[in-house]
Amino acid sequence: MEQKMLSFNYEEFMEDRVTLDADFDNGSLGSVIKLGKNWYHFDVSPNTWYRFHFRVRGCKDQEIIFDFTCREIQQPGYSEGRGRWYWGNPERMKGMQLAYRYPYVSYDGKTWEKIDNMLKDPGPVGRFRFKYRFKEDEAYICHQIPYTYGDMLNWVNSLEGTPCVKSEIIGFTRNGLAEPALTLAADTPAKNLVVLIGREDADEPGGSFAIEGAVDYILHKRPDLLERYTFKVVPMVGIEGVVCGASHSAGYGYSGNNWAFDKSPEEIENVKQAMKRWTQDGYCLRMGVKMHGAQRPGFFKGVDDIIAYDLDVLECLRAGLRDYYGGQWEPFGTPLEAVIRPKGYFERYIMDEYKTNYVVGTHVVESDAGETSVDGGRALMHAIARFLDTLE
Ligand SMILES: [Zn+2]
Repeated sequence: MEQKMLSFNYEEFMEDRVTLDADFDNGSLGSVIKLGKNWYHFDVSPNTWYRFHFRVRGCKDQEIIFDFTCREIQQPGYSEGRGRWYWGNPERMKGMQLAYRYPYVSYDGKTWEKIDNMLKDPGPVGRFRFKYRFKEDEAYICHQIPYTYGDMLNWVNSLEGTPCVKSEIIGFTRNGLAEPALTLAADTPAKNLVVLIGREDADEPGGSFAIEGAVDYILHKRPDLLERYTFKVVPMVGIEGVVCGASHSAGYGYSGNNWAFDKSPEEIENVKQAMKRWTQDGYCLRMGVKMHGAQRPGFFKGVDDIIAYDLDVLECLRAGLRDYYGGQWEPFGTPLEAVIRPKGYFERYIMDEYKTNYVVGTHVVESDAGETSVDGGRALMHAIARFLDTLE
């Protein structure tokens, strides 16, 4: 056999068409460094400590390894990406094994599948690694199945013409984006008002899916509720945080604890003013519910972290959830006692301003199958309806 000269052209070997970016609604990505052939490291964006939602292009038929590093934060229980990318606290997880959250991949931004491998690098703090062989030339990768501002607008638009549903714009965000609300009401609207808000925390898409599920449940399973109650639904509060892909809000404060200010950030102030108008129009605010989304992968069913002040509400919610899941629901992270939220939170704001103790805060969980929490929203509404049925 003739001896061939062995050669290696580094530039040719390294050349590829792969690009990563996050320049779209809800996109999030820090700086990217190519570590080797088909091997990239990225940092998370400075507006989050763990989250990403990016687009890969030029990737068809290639297996690419992604390393990423979470930012270390000074909060116990969240060190090294814990609580967002892996869970390993046996006490909290009831003896479960170390478990990872797997990122999701999509080629169309609509259907998502789990990337079923993930490793925690034993070396650098907060470093993880996953790999994926792409079937198409353009793909999206995200921490959880995302729900964008555009998704919310499309959903609101899709309800146009649905009997008993009207939409309105209750205000605009700091940068002028519309904040819609839905009214679910009978032809002659009932004066008892239930206010539902979703997606205060931008990195909790579960809160948005849950709102869709809750509205679906009212319209299709319990339309009779509208004879006694009118529902005002604000499907997305933290709009600008969602658009820029941040963990919480878009720079105007952290968490949904800005309700007690004389003038809250626009997205919250709009809801406060809308509630004032609604009650001036003769509605009586009977109950306030906020739906957040849990970060845990589907270890638990439906809804956890139910925070309620009134014990009847709490008991009805628990019974309703057990009922919805055929007895297969157990409270997780839910205080057994009534909880009064600190000033600044939605629940407390409703209690202080509207003199009702019927307030609920929850985090709705994705299902085991890695699906969205639409069904969790239905379950929660099933349980809330049970409580509303008991009210005069
Ligand atoms: Zn939350």
